[in-house]
Amino acid sequence: MNAPFRVGQGFDLHQWAQGRKLALGGVDIPHEVGLLGHSDADALTHAIIDALLGALCLGDIGKHFPDTDPRYKDCDSLALLRETVRLVGDAGWSVGNIDSTVVTEAPKLAPYIPMMRERLAEAMGIEVEAVSVKATRTERVLFEPEKGLLAMATALLVRRAI
Ligand code: MG
Repeated sequence: MNAPFRVGQGFDLHQWAQGRKLALGGVDIPHEVGLLGHSDADALTHAIIDALLGALCLGDIGKHFPDTDPRYKDCDSLALLRETVRLVGDAGWSVGNIDSTVVTEAPKLAPYIPMMRERLAEAMGIEVEAVSVKATRTERVLFEPEKGLLAMATALLVRRAI
């Protein structure tokens, strides 16, 4: 497998829950409900982690950071992203760019997207111009938006020069 590039995709879905915070892309967003999960339930960061792991056939986030492990209880998912990028680097690859989409009816994410891009880029050690975060609404067609939020990501990896 000598191709200079690898591509991966990630998908994550979390339920809304009372009494939980909403963290997306490493940014805490004020909202009346948050997302349920063992970690901070940052679905966007989780989707990016799965895209990075998927690009190298390294399995998924549950394999590397199991939700049965107390170390990851309420943990900052950006720390998991940093660890994932370290794995990617150890395997001889660099993150080229990320594109991602969050699908939700509320809250409006546009004001938070610049900060999400900055936090994600910093965690991955890449330029903010290489990290795209988009938001779209469900139009109530694909799933019941009052039940949860979903995020998708694509990652391009570039083989490091030896
Ligand atoms: Mg998740």
